[in-house]
Amino acid sequence: MKSALVCGAGGFIGNHLVTRLKGEGFWVRGVDLKFPEYSETEADDFMIGDLRDPHVCDRAVDRRFDEIYQLAADMGGAGYVFVGDNDADIMHNSGLINLNMVEACRKRNAKRIFYSSSACIYPEFNQLDPDNPKTAEDSAYPAQPDSDYGWEKLFSERLYFAFHRNFGMEVRVSRFHNIFGPLGSWNDGREKAPAALCRKVAMAPDGGEIEIWGDGKQTRSFLYMDECIEGVLRFTRGDWIGPVNMGSEEMIAINDLASMVMDIAGKKLTIKNIPGPEGVRGRNSDNALIEQKLGWKPTQSLREGMEKTYAWIEEQVKEAGLAPK
Ligand code: NAD
Repeated sequence: MKSALVCGAGGFIGNHLVTRLKGEGFWVRGVDLKFPEYSETEADDFMIGDLRDPHVCDRAVDRRFDEIYQLAADMGGAGYVFVGDNDADIMHNSGLINLNMVEACRKRNAKRIFYSSSACIYPEFNQLDPDNPKTAEDSAYPAQPDSDYGWEKLFSERLYFAFHRNFGMEVRVSRFHNIFGPLGSWNDGREKAPAALCRKVAMAPDGGEIEIWGDGKQTRSFLYMDECIEGVLRFTRGDWIGPVNMGSEEMIAINDLASMVMDIAGKKLTIKNIPGPEGVRGRNSDNALIEQKLGWKPTQSLREGMEKTYAWIEEQVKEAGLAPK
């Protein structure tokens, strides 16, 4: 039986990854500070532990694994990573997790480890025009991420590549671009734009108003969870180390995404754009390299994923008694 270790298995993507690996017949160990919040984990073994502690990392890799996925990070949406107040925590916590995990893997002679970096590593100066952002993998340098979250990711990317060069570790480094779907944060201050918009629309009475951070013309692309997991597995099991973008090329302005959600919900609402943290002006995934290297790229439409996500968040809003009367 094949085995996998998922660090960050209590989180949004890690939890979905565990489910997929179990579906493929793997024996799975998850590690996290917490269990998943919105569903029961399917992991065979779930360690509650703090990966900033090197002893916890050693315990997590106390056996042989065919695949190791390092997704644990101090992480959140714009309201968490772009406000400045959490920079020290983000850099210190995620830095320690990666430093300790990669070393624990080296000591255990664990070869293959996937690391989730982020589109937030790309230089701000290439993302000023909302209609023409540049995110080809080789445009990361000269570096100028717009957040310390991005700087930590860039440092950790380099850390994994250094372990590849110096110790022959088979690392895999991928840059996620806004992953969304059911079973993720939707109202705890760490939610991302798709979940936040779904919540706002679900909570608003028809004819009402929702607030959106920024002028709403900032652009992004969003990758549905199932395609993210598919890409992660194809990439990890292939023979190329990356870095590679894992994202959708269907770019949309945030106000237009809000209109899409209203349409899905069958509600007519007014958008009120207010000042708030918004990150770079424009960002889209550049999928030329993933297509070339893996012969595959995500293709599902944004609308399809948003319909499934809205249905789940609408249910959460109702269960929490937050639906309009
Ligand atoms: P998430 O916050 O839901 O999951 C991260 C998990 O790491 C959480 O469950 C958290 O408890 C855990 N964790 C944090 N500190 C820990 C510690 N000290 N010890 C053990 N566990 C700890 O985030 P996610 O959306 O599932 O993201 C997974 C990874 O992908 C992260 O590395 C994130 O930076 C990266 N990423 C995600 C996105 C996205 O759109 N979701 C985009 C780019 C990159």
